[in-house]
Amino acid sequence: TISNKLQNAFKNLRGLGKISESNVSDSLREVRLALLEADVNFKVARDFIERVKTKSLGQEVIESVHPGQQIIKIIHDELVELLGSTNAGLNLSGNPASIMMVGLHGSGKTTSSAKLAKLLTKQGRQPVLVAADVYRPAAMDQLETLGKQLGIPVFLKKGETDVLAIAREAFDFARANNRNTLIFDTAGRLQIDEPLVQELVRLRDLVKPQEILLVLDAATGQEAVNVATHFDQALNITGSILTKLDGDARGGAALSMKAVTGKPIKLAGTGEKLEDFEPFHPERMASRILGMGDVVSLVERAAEAVDEEEAKRLEEKMRKGEFNLEDFLDQLRQMKKLGSLESIVGLLPGGSDMLKGADLNKSEKEFKRMEGMICAMTFKERRQPVILNASRRIRIAKGSGVTVTELNNMLNRFNQMQQMMKKMGKLQKMMMKKGGMP
Ligand code: GDP
Ligand code: MG
Repeated sequence: TISNKLQNAFKNLRGLGKISESNVSDSLREVRLALLEADVNFKVARDFIERVKTKSLGQEVIESVHPGQQIIKIIHDELVELLGSTNAGLNLSGNPASIMMVGLHGSGKTTSSAKLAKLLTKQGRQPVLVAADVYRPAAMDQLETLGKQLGIPVFLKKGETDVLAIAREAFDFARANNRNTLIFDTAGRLQIDEPLVQELVRLRDLVKPQEILLVLDAATGQEAVNVATHFDQALNITGSILTKLDGDARGGAALSMKAVTGKPIKLAGTGEKLEDFEPFHPERMASRILGMGDVVSLVERAAEAVDEEEAKRLEEKMRKGEFNLEDFLDQLRQMKKLGSLESIVGLLPGGSDMLKGADLNKSEKEFKRMEGMICAMTFKERRQPVILNASRRIRIAKGSGVTVTELNNMLNRFNQMQQMMKKMGKLQKMMMKKGGMP
C-alpha cells in the first residue's frame, strides 16, 4: 500500500542528519515513487514533490527533531493541502435543494445516493431519492429497496425513458410530500460517452442542482483523473464522493482529484452498509495515508519547545558541576520565553530553593535584578564565581543597583543550586552504573 511505501521512504528520511539540496532530492525521489505506485497522477506527484522540496530547503531548522522528521511533517501538511485542507460541506441552499449524482457504472452512485439520504435525514432534512437511471430497470429496483430499508421515499417511474419527464414529476412529488432535498441517482456507463454526457447536461440544465457530485471508486487508479476531468468539463461538478475507501485502494484517486479538477472531495464511502458514509476530512485521510500521526505532533511540539541540544549541553554541565552564572543567565533568558520565571526556575534542580524568600508575584522584577547582577559581572566572573572577592562584589552591586547583601544572597542561592546539581549528577551516574534509567 501507499502507507507501506511511504514508511520505507520515511525510514531514510528519519535518519537524515542535515538538509541539503542533494539528500533531500534523494529521499523525496522515493516518496515520489510511492505516490506514483499509488496511482497518483504523474503531474500531481511531480508538483507535490517540488513543493515539499522547496519548503524543506527553506525551512528553519528545529534542533530537537531530525531534519527528516521535519520533512515528514511538511509532507503531511502538503498532503492535507492536496486533499483540500478542510472538509467542504454541501450547498443545500435551494428550496427544494437538489443534488445530482454522476459517475461511471459500479462507482457507487445508487448506494451513495441512499447513504447520503440517510445522512441528510440525520441532519434534519427531508430527502427524496429520484431514480433517474432509465437504462437499467434493476437500478430502479435497487434504489427502491434501499429507500424502503431507510424509510425514505423514492420517486420512480418504471417504463419511462425520458429522464427530463422524470425530473419534472419528481419536483411535484417532492412538493406534495414535503420533501426539501432531491437526490438524483443518474445513469452511468462503463466508459464516458457522448450520448450519456449530453443526457446529463440536459438533466442538469433542467434541475439546476446546487450540487453535482461525481461518485468515484477509490480504486480507479490513473483513470480517475481522466474520468474526473471529463465529467467536470461537461457538467462543472461541485465536488466528488470517493467510495470504497474501505477496500485496498491505493489512494491515488483521492490524491489526484482535488489537484486536477480543483473540486473538493466532499464525502467518503467506507463500506457496503448504509451507515458507512461520512464527510471527507483531508486531515484524517492524510494521516491514514501516512499512518503516522505521532511524528506530526512530535514535530509540532518540538518546534515550540526549547532547543534540545542546548538543554543536553547544560545538563552535562550541571552534572559535572560546571554550570556557571553565564549558563544560568542564558537559561533564564531562554526560558523566560516559555513561561513565568517561577515555573521555570522551579524546574531546575534546586531552583525552588533559589526562589525562596523572593516575592514570587514580582518574579519578573526579580528576574531582571538577577539578570542585572550577572550582567554587571565580567565574563571571567560569571564563569568562575569563586573569584568574586569583596571588592568585586562591591563593584558589581553598584553596577547593577543592588546592595552587596542582595548580591550575596543571590550568589549564595546560586551556590546552593550548583551543589544540588552536582549531587544530582552523582546520583544519576550511580544509577546508570547500576543499570537503571539512563
Ligand atoms: P452504481 O452503478 O454507480 O450505482 O454503483 P452501486 O451503488 O450499485 O455500487 C456498486 C457496488 O459497489 C455495490 O456492490 C455496492 O455495494 C458497492 N459499494 C458502493 N459503495 C461502497 C463502499 O463505500 N464500500 C464498499 N465496500 N462497497 C461499496
Ligand atoms: Mg446505480
